[in-house]
Formats: sequence, structure tokens, C-alpha cells
Amino acid sequence: MYTIKGKTCDWEVVIGLETHIEVLSKSKIFSGASADYNPTIAPNTQACMVDVAMPGMLPVLNKYCVEQAIKFGLGINAKISNHSKFARKQYFYPDLPQGYQISQPAEEPPVVGRGWIEIMGDDGKQKKILIERAHLEQDAGKLKHDMHPTKSFADYNRTGVALLEIVTFLDVKNPENNSYITSPDEAERYLREIREIARALGVSKANMEEGSMRADVNVSVRPVGDTKFRTRTETKNMVSFKFIKTAIEYEARRQIEIYENGGTVSQDTMRYSQEDGTTSVLRSKEDALDYRYFPDPDLLELEISDDEIERVRKTMPELPSATRARYINDLGLAEYDAARLTETTDISHWFDTAVGDKKQRAKPIANWMISELFAHPENWDVTNTIQVAEDGAPRIITPSDLALLVDMISENQINGKQAKEIFIKMLDGESGTPQEIADKFGMKQMTDTGAIEKIVDNVIAANQPQVEQYKSGKVGLLGFFVGNVMKLSGGTANPAVVNEIIRKKLA
Ligand code: ADP
Ligand code: MG
Repeated sequence: MYTIKGKTCDWEVVIGLETHIEVLSKSKIFSGASADYNPTIAPNTQACMVDVAMPGMLPVLNKYCVEQAIKFGLGINAKISNHSKFARKQYFYPDLPQGYQISQPAEEPPVVGRGWIEIMGDDGKQKKILIERAHLEQDAGKLKHDMHPTKSFADYNRTGVALLEIVTFLDVKNPENNSYITSPDEAERYLREIREIARALGVSKANMEEGSMRADVNVSVRPVGDTKFRTRTETKNMVSFKFIKTAIEYEARRQIEIYENGGTVSQDTMRYSQEDGTTSVLRSKEDALDYRYFPDPDLLELEISDDEIERVRKTMPELPSATRARYINDLGLAEYDAARLTETTDISHWFDTAVGDKKQRAKPIANWMISELFAHPENWDVTNTIQVAEDGAPRIITPSDLALLVDMISENQINGKQAKEIFIKMLDGESGTPQEIADKFGMKQMTDTGAIEKIVDNVIAANQPQVEQYKSGKVGLLGFFVGNVMKLSGGTANPAVVNEIIRKKLA
């Protein structure tokens, strides 16, 4: 469990995330204007009369955006509501021409109800994170303050693009239920999983750098063992995994210090400073009441039939969680390995390509990827798309390189140590297949039992005291003999054969 040590006790960190992802669609959620707000597009050329709230203009719900929400909801194992409503959340800001945002109110069922996803917890085991809801709403425009010394400009191209807001659940009535995010690392893994689900389904690019994924971060702390959750603060509009993690860490320590000095934390909205990684109070939190939510009179209730939900369900591709289950159940991988290999769909595609139809390759390939390729990103084209490498670029290790390498081991052509040498040569830029490299450097496994037996005899003769100890029960010395034989064979002997011969001779 991730805790922070305080002066008086250990503290648990409680995290709730409200994640916004920009929905991929041709047109906006309530208008026919293009939903492409790419910064290269001239400002205000993709904003129609509805988007800029000209009098008399009426919103019409985009069915495709609703389908995208259903798809995402099914992807997070959620209940899709048959009935939900749109409401106006009212506030004034120059990037919001309507003077209100059309959203789905918290007290009513949203299009996507209670669901969950699985992430790797800090203990390396799979952990369920409950999701309270995901609702559809409109995005606002963009203000530009850096184009003129005294003027600000507004670009309404993004105004009215569909957003899906995904809110994690905290079971306040049942504090034993620990299916929530409890550390900065878990927050990152949760967001990455949301991103991968959205991408696998084509629901969103979910790209933080581009702003198509943003998160509001709610943080509270409580003494370990306490059953009640304490007051949380909220840091809005975070757009980098790194900043989110530093903000959580800083905010948790800030709150702990307040409590330990006898103070109380108030429910504030915080500002995060990228310059020094700190959080500070921006304003006291606004309440739902302040927004004067009311049902949008221009929009009908959203009705989704079970048939419609089933129709969408049939179009769903394999999601990261299903891939993970397949790796664990079909291929026999450990949970940790399965989690690492499904961090992105590119990684799992790469792995699937390398394994091909030979299941026995799965475990060794997983090991090579996790212990070697992850550590050498410069030699790894994870998208597996580079056809011809540029001159002077590092050598790329391909799925077939790794497949061949593990096959050569399992067919006893080379041993693990030689495979490692071949791999290092590839990292160093050696060209050719692993087979060609093995041939070029004369790497061949010694499998001739006669030759191995001779070396074993020599090692036994030279180490009589150890032989006595082994025979009197110190069987741990087996490794000592194997190591010596391997050394004398120049690292070329088949370790399994060496083992067997030594055991027999010392029996
Ligand atoms: P709002 O929309 O007013 O910000 P919600 O009640 O919908 O608030 O909660 C927003 C997020 O804050 C949710 O993910 C929720 O789980 C989380 N949250 C609520 N209470 C706490 C708390 N005490 N500590 C940490 N997170 C919390
Ligand atoms: Mg909030």
C-alpha cells in the first residue's frame, strides 16, 4: 500500500479522477459544423450559427456521438442508461458563447452509468477501479491571449465538440471497498488504461499533449485505518501524466501538513504550477447549485433501446483487458507481464506478431521484451512500421528477430547465454538475422554428450572437497559444478545436458 509517513501517523492518499476525452466524430455534438479543430485550421471557420449561439438556432443531437458514448460505456463494463437527459450548466466565460454548457446533470442517470476497469495495482496485481458515470457534454472554445499586447481573441472551432467525462467512484457508504485510485502511479495507470480503451474503440485520440484528454484531480488524505474519507480538493484541467503525479504528491503532503498542525482542509479548487510542481488555492469550490442546472428545453430526452446497445456491442474489437486475459489464460503469462505487454495496443500487436501461432514462444518473448526491449527503445520500432532504416540509425529488432532467437534456443542450437550475446550484437548494430549472426561468429551450442562428459570429469577431479560436501548433502553446490563446466566449455554447453550429467555422476 502506498502511504506517506507523517509526524503523527502514516497517511493514505485517496484519489478521484474526472477525465475528459474528446469524442471522435465528423461533426459536433449538437451542430453540423466540422468537429476538426486542429490548430492549423483558420480560427472560427468551423463554427456555425448554432455553435456561436445566434438567436433562434436550435441544437440537434448527433447520433454518432451517442454511439461513441455507448461503445466506450461497454468498454468500461458499464450499464448504459435507456433514458437520460441533457441539462444546461450555466456560467459566463468568453469561450462559451451560449452562456451555458449542455451537459448531463449529476442527479440524473447519465448515458453511461456505473462501470469499472482493471489496472495493475502498486502490488503488481490486477485491481478494479470503479467508475461512477460517463456523460456527454459540449467542449468550449479557445481563448488566445498571446497574439496582441492588449487584446484577447476567441476561436470557436472547438466550441460544441463532443466530450465524454468519465468520473471515478468512491464508495463513501462502504469504506472497506478499496476499488479506487490510491497512488500517483495508479492514477497514471488508470489514465493510460482509459486512453487505450478509447483508442482501441476509436472513441477518442485521447492524447494529453494535443488536449484531447484532460483530467481534474481530486485528492484527499486520511490516517491509515481511518474509515471515513476526508475533505478533498480539486486541481482542474491537468494535461500531462507527469504533472498529475507531481500534483497529487504535492497536494497530499500539503494536506497532511495542515492536519498535523491541527488545521482543517477546505474543499477548494487548486491551481497547479508547472514551474515548481506546487499546488495552491485558486478559489473555494463552486457547488452544483451555483450552476443553476436545468433540463435543456431545446432537447428531447435521450432514449437508447436494448437493441441499439446490442447492435453497438457486436461492433466492439478486443479491448486491452480481454487481451490481458488471453495472455494469462491462453499463453500462461504472469499478471505483471500481461499488464506490461498491454500498456498500448502497439506493444500487444508487436508481441502477438512475434509469437505468431507458436504458443511456446510466448513466455520467452515476453521476457525478452520486458527485460530488454523496454530498456532499449532506440532499437525498438514498437509500431512495427519502419520498412527501411535510415543510414546511421540504430538497428531495429523486429518481431521475427526475437521469434527466431527464442526458436534457436528451444531447438537447442544455441543456449541462453549465446542468445544474449547475439542480442547484444544486434543492439550494437550487427546486421543479419540471429541465425546469420550465430553462424558468422561460430556460436553453436555444444550438445555432444561425450565432449561435455569429459569436461565434467575434469571439473569433478579438480574439486574433490566440493564433491565430498555435495555427496554429504550440500546439494546447493550443483550450481558451482555447472558454472565451472559452462566456463570450461566457453559458454557453449547446453546447460540442461550439463545439469543432467553432473547429477548422474555425483549420484
Ligand atoms: P464534482 O463534480 O462536484 O467535482 P463529484 O462528487 O462528482 O464532484 O466528485 C468528483 C470526483 O471526486 C469523483 O471522482 C469522486 O470519486 C472524487 N471524490 C469525492 N470525494 C472525494 C474524497 N473525499 N477524496 C478523494 N476524491 C473524492
Ligand atoms: Mg469536479
